[in-house]
Amino acid sequence: MSSGERVFIVGGGPAGLAAAIELRGKGFSVTVGDGAKPPVDKACGEGLMPDTVAALRKMGVAIQPTDGYPLRGVRFFSNGVPIEANFNGPQGIGLRRTVLHSRMAAHAERIGVRLLWNTPVSDFSSKGMRVQGEYFAADWIVGADGSGSRVRRWAGLETGTRKTRRFAFRSHFRLAPWSHYVEVYWANDSQAYVTPVSDQEVCVVVLSEKGPMRTSVIAGKFPELAAHLGNAETLGTERGALTTTNRLEKIYRDNVVLVGDASGAVDAITGEGLCLSFQHAAALADLLPSGDLHEYQRVHRRFQLRPSIMGNLLSLLGSRRFARERTFRAFAAEPSLFGRFLNLHLGHGNGTEAVLAATRLGVRFATC
Ligand SMILES: Cc1cc2nc3c(=O)[nH]c(=O)nc-3n(C[C@H](O)[C@H](O)[C@H](O)COP(=O)(O)OP(=O)(O)OC[C@H]3O[C@@H](n4cnc5c(N)ncnc54)[C@H](O)[C@@H]3O)c2cc1C
Repeated sequence: MSSGERVFIVGGGPAGLAAAIELRGKGFSVTVGDGAKPPVDKACGEGLMPDTVAALRKMGVAIQPTDGYPLRGVRFFSNGVPIEANFNGPQGIGLRRTVLHSRMAAHAERIGVRLLWNTPVSDFSSKGMRVQGEYFAADWIVGADGSGSRVRRWAGLETGTRKTRRFAFRSHFRLAPWSHYVEVYWANDSQAYVTPVSDQEVCVVVLSEKGPMRTSVIAGKFPELAAHLGNAETLGTERGALTTTNRLEKIYRDNVVLVGDASGAVDAITGEGLCLSFQHAAALADLLPSGDLHEYQRVHRRFQLRPSIMGNLLSLLGSRRFARERTFRAFAAEPSLFGRFLNLHLGHGNGTEAVLAATRLGVRFATC
């Protein structure tokens, strides 16, 4: 256990709360400052893959089946043709961001994390933070302030590569879900990504590389989805966001370290952003007691690799119609191949299995 060193975490989204829970569990004295009012909402697909649910459970955050909607797998639609695959093992869950935030914040508070809401951090010093007139001395500063991180900028950690940047809009619709799958509808310049989040509500995100596209485009671009939604009432306000794939050269400097989207993100379509944030938090808590942030950075790179590769492949399929149609025909001809890719994406399988699946897809691609 740590000797009670003080950690200040900037940002109380999923990554900041996960880091707070994990670090508190190692004996650190933890304060989180977030500029928003709880429960914090955000444009998100709201699909928790089975690996994400397992990471939450390991953290001690209890998610009840009735909090959301069980997910069995993933289904793609292109030109009206569905291909689908089930998760190997446990199910995922579709869960409103506000519910996830409430459950994580309640657990953090229960174990002794100090949570400061409505508290934007605007003054930075590596010795501590001045927040709304109060000074918090800190041995460690964790930047968990999302993809537009100011901590990253303040600490001079902006250098890196950004591979993709896409626009997203999210809306909720009041209707009973028609499936237990995360569904992705593919058009030539966009995708609509659907997650059931309760027995009376579905979440829809429209993703586009060409420019902002609001969910009102669904009727024109995604007729099969529009048929499911019918005249369902929209709930709450539509929210927009950017989704990026980026990799930083360094994710720490002196006593400042980054987690979650602040430390590099993968495209939303991978459905792995939350799981990655939780993996960062657990790795940081393992390594911060020894101060070995170089090792944290090495482990972090390893976590990002698989979802980044898959995110790049999916983005490529989004923008290349020929490749997409050919790939989906290959999956339709051999449905188990789609299942192999889905489960490799979620961490089930090794390098050899990945090479075998890619070779098989190559053969199918050439002959379909
Ligand atoms: C459209 C879209 C769909 C997605 N769908 C999925 C999905 O289905 N499944 C999945 O696993 N992932 C998904 N993701 C990714 C996931 O949303 C992110 O990976 C996740 O939110 C990262 O959490 P975070 O805590 O790092 O950042 P954020 O969730 O952005 O949280 C950052 C927090 O920092 C606070 N903050 C920022 N600046 C300051 C400041 N100066 N002072 C104090 N507080 C500050 C903010 O208020 C916020 O609460 C999606 C992302 C997008 C954009």
